[in-house]
Amino acid sequence: MEQKTEELIEQLRTLVSKMRAYGHAQGVLYYDAATIAPPGGAEDRGKTLAVLSEVSYELQTGEETGKLLAALMARREELDFITRREVSELWRDYERTKKIPKEEYIAYNVLLNEADAVWHKAKVESDWPAFRPYMEKIVAFNKKLAAWLAPEKKPYDALLDQYERGLTMETLDAFFDVLKERLVPLIRRVAEKGQPDCAFIHQEFPIEQQRKLSDWLMSAIGIDREYCSIGETEHPFTDGYSKHDVRITTHYHLDDPLSSLFSVVHEGGHALYELHSGDELEDTMLSGGASMSIHESQSRFFENIIGRSRGFIHNLLPKLQELFPQQMEGVTEDMLYRAANIAEPGLIRTEADELSYCLHVMLRYELEKQLMEGSLAVADLPSAWNAKVKEYLGLDVPDDRRGVLQDSHWSGGSIGYFPSYALGSAYGAQLLAKMKETVDVDAAVASGDLTPILDWLTERIWKKGSLYDPQELFEQAAEAPFDPTYYTDYLKEKYSAIYGL
Ligand code: ZN
Repeated sequence: MEQKTEELIEQLRTLVSKMRAYGHAQGVLYYDAATIAPPGGAEDRGKTLAVLSEVSYELQTGEETGKLLAALMARREELDFITRREVSELWRDYERTKKIPKEEYIAYNVLLNEADAVWHKAKVESDWPAFRPYMEKIVAFNKKLAAWLAPEKKPYDALLDQYERGLTMETLDAFFDVLKERLVPLIRRVAEKGQPDCAFIHQEFPIEQQRKLSDWLMSAIGIDREYCSIGETEHPFTDGYSKHDVRITTHYHLDDPLSSLFSVVHEGGHALYELHSGDELEDTMLSGGASMSIHESQSRFFENIIGRSRGFIHNLLPKLQELFPQQMEGVTEDMLYRAANIAEPGLIRTEADELSYCLHVMLRYELEKQLMEGSLAVADLPSAWNAKVKEYLGLDVPDDRRGVLQDSHWSGGSIGYFPSYALGSAYGAQLLAKMKETVDVDAAVASGDLTPILDWLTERIWKKGSLYDPQELFEQAAEAPFDPTYYTDYLKEKYSAIYGL
C-alpha cells in the first residue's frame, strides 16, 4: 500500500536527525583532535571515525534512504518550500555519494584522520618527506573521486563543483585574469612607496592578554558567547554543528598580535553566518552556510572590510592600550591603522595583506589544476610552489613550513577549495557596495554597534542557510550578477588613499 506523504515526511525527519547526529559527533571528534586530544590518541580515534563514517555512509546511501528520497522526489510538488529543497539536496547527495565505492570512502576518511595528524607534526618540523606519501594518496583519491562523480567533466572541474556548484576553470581563469590585470600594477605602485614604521607591533604581547583580546573581539563583532566558543589550533578554523554550537579557533604568536586578532575576526565572520541561520531551518540539512565562497565572503568581509577599517581601529586602540599599556604607549590611531593595512607581500596566505592575498590563492589554484591534470607530480610540489611564490610575490621560500606545508586544506582532503577564498573576497566587496545604498556602514562600525550591518546580512544571506544555490543567493543579496571589478575598485580606492598614490 502506498504511504501517505505525512508518513514519508516523518521518516525524513528521523533520517535527518540521525544524519545530523553522526555529523555532529564526527565534527566534535575532529575539533577535539585539532585542539586538546593527546597525540597518542590518533589511532583509536581513527577506529571510532571508521565506525561513525560507515554509519554515515549507510544513512546517506542505504537502500531505505534511496527509496524514501525517491518517493519524496516523486511527490515534491506536494512538499513545502523548505522540505522540497531539503529533499532535492539530499537526493543530490545520495546520487553523488552512491558513486563513491563504500570501502574507498571509509578508507579515505581513515587516511584523512591520519594525514591530519602527520601534517600537524610535519608542518611544525618542516618535514615535507613525512607528509608527501599522504599527499600522494590524497591526490590519487581525488582523481578517482572526480572520475566517479562526473566522468564527463575535466577532473578539476568536478572537484570545484563540490565546493561551489557550477564553478569551472573557465570562470576562474577569467576571474583571475581580471585580478591579475588590475592588481599586479597596483601592487607594484604600492611597493614603490615604502612602508611605515610598525616596530611597535613586533614587541612581545603576552598570550594570556591576547586571549582576553579575542574575547573582546568576539563581542565587538556581535557574537553571542552562549553559542560560540574559541579554541587554539595550529591553523585557525570554524566549525558549526548547529546555530547553538559553533566553534572558532585561533593561533597566538607572541610577537605578532595582529595575526590572531584578524584571524579571530575572520573566523568570527564564519561563526556569525552559522549563528544566524534561520530558526525554521534548525534540525534540517539546510541550516548553516550555502557554500564555501559565500562563507568566505562573510569571513573576509569581517576581517578586512570591517576589521581593518578606520572605525574599527578607532574602537580597537583603547582596548589594546588597556591590555598592553607598555607595548601600545604612544601609538596613535593612524599608526595602528597603517600597521593593520600594510600591503607587503609575505609567505603566509592567512597573514597576507588584502592586496596580495588573491595571488596566494591563484598560485594554489594553478598548482591544484596541474596536479589534477597530471602535469605536476606530488614529488615536485615544493619546488613548483617555491617557483610560483618567487614569480608572483617576489619572495624566496626558506622552508616548507612557510611554503607548501602551511595550509591544512590538502591534509584535510580538500582540493578545489582554495578558489572560494578569492571568489569570497570579491563577493564581499560587491555586497559592501549594495549595503552602502541603505546602511551607513562607516558610521555603524565607528559607533561600535554593528547591528545595522548584522541585520542586513541576516536578512539577505545568513537566515537563508542553503535554501538557494550560491550563485542565486549572491545575486539575490547583491541584486545584480557577480562583477569582480567591485573588488578591484574597492582595493584601488582603499590602498591609493593609504599609500598616497
Ligand atoms: Zn575562512
